[in-house]
Amino acid sequence: MKYTVILNGCSSSFISQAEEISGFLWDNIGKSMEGDTVIFYSEDEKREELIENSPTAFVRLIKITRYQPENVLAILKDLELNREVDLYLFSRDFAGNELSVRFAYRMGGSSLVSVSKIEIGKGMLTCCRPAYSNNMEAKFTLRKKPYCIAIAQGSTDHKLTLDTSRQVLSEVDMTNMSKGTFIKEYEFKGEEEASGLEHSKFILIAGRGVKDNKKMERLREVAKKTGAELGISRPVAMKAWAPMNRLIGVSGAMTKPELCITAGVSGAAAFFAGIEKSKYIIAINTDEEASIVKSSDVAIIDDYEIVLEELLKIIETSEK
Ligand SMILES: Cc1cc2nc3c(=O)[nH]c(=O)nc-3n(C[C@H](O)[C@H](O)[C@H](O)COP(=O)(O)OP(=O)(O)OC[C@H]3O[C@@H](n4cnc5c(N)ncnc54)[C@H](O)[C@@H]3O)c2cc1C
Repeated sequence: MKYTVILNGCSSSFISQAEEISGFLWDNIGKSMEGDTVIFYSEDEKREELIENSPTAFVRLIKITRYQPENVLAILKDLELNREVDLYLFSRDFAGNELSVRFAYRMGGSSLVSVSKIEIGKGMLTCCRPAYSNNMEAKFTLRKKPYCIAIAQGSTDHKLTLDTSRQVLSEVDMTNMSKGTFIKEYEFKGEEEASGLEHSKFILIAGRGVKDNKKMERLREVAKKTGAELGISRPVAMKAWAPMNRLIGVSGAMTKPELCITAGVSGAAAFFAGIEKSKYIIAINTDEEASIVKSSDVAIIDDYEIVLEELLKIIETSEK
């Protein structure tokens, strides 16, 4: 059996990750398996320190510009495809958990995160992990190699007692790796500013019944033309048809407008709590059984598009 530890040398917690993995190896593997450590790093000044703190005697170094799951996975897959490693160990942090699952998928193996103990059997790896808030221990059997596991929090840390000499087996420079292979384009979106919905006098709210993002665009226009603030229900926020700061309900804004019009909203309790202090509620819904129909002042049972377009026409003619 062969194992490989994957560590993030770009992380400020590298040493604690290495110590935890070292403790895990000590408790679970000892010297019964042949192993090495792959360390991803970006700063030359740290190279020696990373090698010294490797949890195994054999080290392979990969220089990269940034530790991102996509580039790490692509590099690992290329380098590891023909190595026939049985077990990959990842650290317990967020990146370690993500990589263990995604790497197993790419290599056709099996994975488990938060592993506190392993037992190596014939054609399988038995793993224990805490369950039910640490009140129980669950046992899993992984059958497809390579086994890719991320260790559990609190795995004992040892001060690198397995071996003290370190040998660098290979060094690869991947700093020229093309970004274009996995990131087509990206845009940074800062935190949305507060929308001020809590103080609006007139709110038009879009629910899942609006159907899609394109139709949401039309609703935005209607809100603008009628002078309403746009609010949304949770499914609309989850589908990213509008920013999260427009969400109405217990997880978003609790409003008290003079007038509230809902379009394609069913009126679930978690939503309704956010509009129940409105002076006047008009609900537009195709389903007369929807709970919002019973809790609104006026309910229009029809397609919201027809109703809102009619409303716009009335506003436009009254302006002439
Ligand atoms: C802990 C927790 C917190 C939550 N917090 C919130 C929260 O803060 N805000 C929130 O919104 N939700 C919240 N939810 C979710 C909430 O329970 C509902 O699932 C959600 O409000 C439903 O959104 P909706 O009414 O848009 O969608 P749906 O319930 O799917 O309703 C869509 C409605 O559109 C109608 N419709 C369809 N087509 C048309 C049409 N052409 N014209 C007119 N009507 C049409 C349908 O008849 C239906 O009534 C929370 C849930 C949980 C568990």
